[in-house]
Amino acid sequence: MAGGGGDQGGDDEEGELRRRVAALEAELERTRALLETIFAHIPAVFYVKDLESRYQYGSPWGFRTFGIDPARAIGRTDAELFPPALAERFAASDRRVLEGREMASVSYALPAQGRALHFAGVRFPIPGPDGRPVGVCGFAVDVTERIELANKLERLATTDALTGLANRRRFDEHLAAELARAARSGEPLTLVLCDVDQFKRYNDRYGHPRGDTCLVEVARALDGIVRRPADLAARYGGEEFALVLPETAEDGAAKLVERLRASVRELGFEHEGNDGHGVVTLSAGVATVAGAWTVEEVVELADRALYEAKEAGRDRHVAVSEAKPPASLNRAR
Ligand code: GH3
Ligand code: MG
Ligand code: MG
Repeated sequence: MAGGGGDQGGDDEEGELRRRVAALEAELERTRALLETIFAHIPAVFYVKDLESRYQYGSPWGFRTFGIDPARAIGRTDAELFPPALAERFAASDRRVLEGREMASVSYALPAQGRALHFAGVRFPIPGPDGRPVGVCGFAVDVTERIELANKLERLATTDALTGLANRRRFDEHLAAELARAARSGEPLTLVLCDVDQFKRYNDRYGHPRGDTCLVEVARALDGIVRRPADLAARYGGEEFALVLPETAEDGAAKLVERLRASVRELGFEHEGNDGHGVVTLSAGVATVAGAWTVEEVVELADRALYEAKEAGRDRHVAVSEAKPPASLNRAR
């Protein structure tokens, strides 16, 4: 203290200072050990990097998940630790974080150990004494199982169990989306509804299990006929199937449907009760539309054509084609 008792006082002061420093160091060490224990046990990615992407801290679990020895990671950069493509993605993400563009929760899939891992978490800049960022901190947990389960449920909810084709739900969604696109682009869209001829008699004569096998093979023929990414083959219900063919006009659709019908005939499923055809055959209603249409309207059009094909003796297709004004004109009215 000022004006205190000479050497004795100085010693006291120095001793007190040393004790406080030692106490602070012990406190610091306890905190460091505590954090280390916590992050050694939490299955999470947690890291602190400086502005050169050098790891100042990284959770062992996080490094191990990416096949990196935690002991050699500290002080190294993303570029030194990860494959170039991954390091570049991390660098781009750091840049976004530092620009304040990615502060909120993030979810991203990373290829690790030969498979995609999904993480959900937060990333944020670490402010220095003057408030400017001195590094980036990230925390993320592995949500791969949850995402994979969600994807599986999504697949189950949109797939027909017997044939593996898209189910009615997926068909409705896809057709609605493609009709909206067609209404904007003015391109034609063709919907094909197919129905297996005299299939009740098939089941009655050959049994339900063989009926199922037949439907699976017909579905395979449908699946084999569609080529473009926006095309969809679906099981509409029972022994009825559908093809959604965006940007497809009458002539193209007719060729495709006849190829499909030929490939179903060529499956050669014996069908005595099929009005003298001898094998399983398909009838189809083909509706080509342009302009603004609803799912219900197009399905009704194709269904009417299918009914006509049945009435005319089955084993054939009937095509109809109708145009309405494009969506923009409809709205203007
Ligand atoms: P049409 O030529 O007029 O279409 O006659 P159809 O007998 O095929 O038509 P109908 O609608 O009278 O009968 C459809 C049959 O399809 C009846 C039903 O037992 C059968 N069916 C529907 N779904 C399945 C299925 O999942 N498996 C089997 N094996 N048969 C099915
Ligand atoms: Mg039917
Ligand atoms: Mg039928």
